[in-house]
Amino acid sequence: MSSSFMIPRSMKSSAGFTVKCAAVSAILLMAMPARSALPINAPRAAALAQLPENRQVRAALDWFSPHLGWINDEQARLTEIPAPPFHEEQRAAAVKVLLAAVGLDVQIDKTGNVIGELHGSSDKEVVVLSAHLDTVFPPGTDVKVQREAGRMIAPGISDNGTGLAALVAIARAMHEARIKPQRTILFVADVGEEGEGNLRGMRALVDTYRGKLSAVIIMDGSGTDHVTTKALASRRLEVIVTGPGGHSWSDFGIPNPINALVRASVRFINTRVPVSPRTTYNIGEIEGGTSVNSIPHEAHMKVDTRSESEEELTRLETALRDAVAAGVRDELEASRDRSKGKLDWKVNLLGSRPGGELRGDSPLLAALRYADSFVGNESRAERASTDANVPLSLGIDAVALGAGGNGGGAHSLQEWYDPSGRELGLQRALLTLLGVSGIVAEKSR
Ligand SMILES: [Zn+2]
Repeated sequence: MSSSFMIPRSMKSSAGFTVKCAAVSAILLMAMPARSALPINAPRAAALAQLPENRQVRAALDWFSPHLGWINDEQARLTEIPAPPFHEEQRAAAVKVLLAAVGLDVQIDKTGNVIGELHGSSDKEVVVLSAHLDTVFPPGTDVKVQREAGRMIAPGISDNGTGLAALVAIARAMHEARIKPQRTILFVADVGEEGEGNLRGMRALVDTYRGKLSAVIIMDGSGTDHVTTKALASRRLEVIVTGPGGHSWSDFGIPNPINALVRASVRFINTRVPVSPRTTYNIGEIEGGTSVNSIPHEAHMKVDTRSESEEELTRLETALRDAVAAGVRDELEASRDRSKGKLDWKVNLLGSRPGGELRGDSPLLAALRYADSFVGNESRAERASTDANVPLSLGIDAVALGAGGNGGGAHSLQEWYDPSGRELGLQRALLTLLGVSGIVAEKSR
């Protein structure tokens, strides 16, 4: 895929430093500008390599393996609390209890995000570790977790049960190891990531902390083979066509909104989109009418458009508007009887996700590369549509990661998660987090 590149494995952790040295390099890390234009430089690389030499960091990294049973059980318990779009409250309350239990200052903001604060030696800069609460499944979906041959099966178990379990596990590991960060860390379970939630939780969070945010690490789903460093821009549009409506026999010949929408759709799907920058569209819903023998008074459809380029999205949106205008015009011209009324149409923007990219020389990418090399993982950089779109579009460093283990069937009722080896994903996320937050060495407290 042209939008992917391999992150080279680099910088093996080097042994032989003392704890005293850790304090010095931690200060160096703190002194680095949040968004230096320099490539990974020697002091930053040394500070990262020093992290796992610290006794407390080592204790936090080692906390996961003996506690996998607890982590898996919490994942199942959270997954069984329904969190349909726009109704994440119950699950949010459960995450709040878990974060408060590990000593964080926890609040739920007015958008519904759970925010647990771990105060750093400085509150001037803030690093976010987040996982979204919401699922795509409507109220009433059976979310009971089945366990079969080492797998957990339930809607939402991986996306984002895995991310939420990782969020609370990492918070707890840091608490048990008594790690104090330099920058303040916010552990966030956010609302509205999926579909028409339109990233409202992350938008509100970034809005609140914008001046202080130095990095955002998002845990979404399973795996460790990828890292999202580029935000896929998207727009979701709704087309509504209305008309007078009438009887299929006695009013035959008046303009029909479904006919107009069909004419518009055929025009729209003949729009050519480039392979590069990759651009896609999908008519995902089409509805209208009341009965087979009625000329409908309304028809509507929903269209999803995505692109590596904002310009292509704008071009596609224009093509859709032109196609609808032409489809309505064609239907009016074909109608015999316009005495009962004409057709009206409009196109509404249901959601828009901005694009953006993480710079190749960002401290966050350096921290992630270091974490990958430490745990012996290789990951490819990807472009995707996630909560990271919001910070990336504003030039704030952000990545989205899988939180370990393996999963599949996302957004289906057969969604599954296999937690084997999940500790690697947890260690990777923890080290990436500490790489950007910095730590305060025990001696210097
Ligand atoms: Zn997700």
